[in-house]
Amino acid sequence: MGDGPTDPRRQVPRTDTLLADPRLAAASATLGRDRVKAVVARAQERVRRGELRPDEARDAAVAALPAAGPRVVLNATGVVLHTNLGRAPLSAAAVAAVVAAAGHTDVELDLTTGRRARRGRDALDALAAAVPDADAAHVVNNGAAALVLAATALAAGREIVVSRGELVEIGDGFRLPDLLESTGARLREVGTTNRTTLADYAAALGPQTGFVLKVHPSNFRVTGFTSATPVRQLATLGVPVVADIGSGLLTADPLLPDEPDAATTLRAGAALVTASGDKLLGGPQAGLLLGDVELVEKLRRHPLARALRVDKLTLAALAATVHQPDTPTRAALHADPGALRNRVERLRDRLGADGRKAEVVPAVAVVGGGGAPGVELDSWALSLPERYAGPLRTGEQPVLGRVVRGRLLLDLRCVPADADEAVRAAVLRVPGDD
Ligand SMILES: *Cc1c(COP(=O)(O)O)cnc(C)c1O
Repeated sequence: MGDGPTDPRRQVPRTDTLLADPRLAAASATLGRDRVKAVVARAQERVRRGELRPDEARDAAVAALPAAGPRVVLNATGVVLHTNLGRAPLSAAAVAAVVAAAGHTDVELDLTTGRRARRGRDALDALAAAVPDADAAHVVNNGAAALVLAATALAAGREIVVSRGELVEIGDGFRLPDLLESTGARLREVGTTNRTTLADYAAALGPQTGFVLKVHPSNFRVTGFTSATPVRQLATLGVPVVADIGSGLLTADPLLPDEPDAATTLRAGAALVTASGDKLLGGPQAGLLLGDVELVEKLRRHPLARALRVDKLTLAALAATVHQPDTPTRAALHADPGALRNRVERLRDRLGADGRKAEVVPAVAVVGGGGAPGVELDSWALSLPERYAGPLRTGEQPVLGRVVRGRLLLDLRCVPADADEAVRAAVLRVPGDD
């Protein structure tokens, strides 16, 4: 040792060299340069003490960075709308719109007159153009907020007539009936779990009726001796029909024939449709309310509307998504299985000589996120030993797969094509000793 030329203390990497590392530079932008410098100083100190080799300082500093926010993960689960992974990834157009809207914008100002204007009119105009059957639109924080606003403004202290077969739990203990009752509206349950007829609804109507609610059972299916009353028939009852279609298709998608869409539901006679922006629409988290002008106006003017309103970033992302609906969600839904197979084969071929015992296997992807239950999308996956699951989840670039019968499946359907290389690198970072 001593202080000769090989003494590690003389080779401590310089601060500016370390800060030029792209990962540390990116962290400086989000965490602030001083916090990153402090992390770098600790790594340099460990080199000085001989605990790290000089060439290990960079990675040690990166590993010691505090989290600046959510980690970016690759979704190889084959679940297109994974609620735990943030549902829909935004399109490039929506991301650009969010970045542009991050500064001052005319979100609530008319530049030609200089006067206050309707908030988020570009998003509302885009929705109106995409769904001409809707006479008006309003946007709130999420699908649940859309229901709360409708229930509060149209039925507080009165009754919401709803089928016993449509009192849905969405997930994580979120139950629609509890949400609706929390607004002060009373639920008037009609029919049975498996069958509810038009007569059941008609018998429950009276002066106490606020509206009839039709809920799309978005995450389960009832089969066998069943009967549900379609919106087309409910619309003959002479009271407003509010349809919670859930997943947010604006118009019909032939790939998902059982999934209701806003345009068709409004044409069938619904007075109001509620939906989520970050499900099949592939946009930001948002609750869409589309339909009758008077009802939408009533919602918009209700005091609660202010508490549920969306910010300018959401409005910008929503407008861009509706204008350019070629979202990553749509791409994942419509991905060609043959092309997916080619990608998985190329990935396996580039894993090196032993190929990590990886196999190319057919897989089944699903829509997820409370949409299209029972729809199975033919897909392809890289199959690895199960022990890869943990290290891939916690690695430098987390990759989330699905464990099936002792194998980890990495389904590329929801992985952007330009991220295949990142998947390969993540797999190769897992020590391959089996
Ligand atoms: C997802 C869903 C909701 C809730 O929407 P969020 O945007 O998650 O708040 C409500 N109703 C149905 C039918 C749904 O599928």
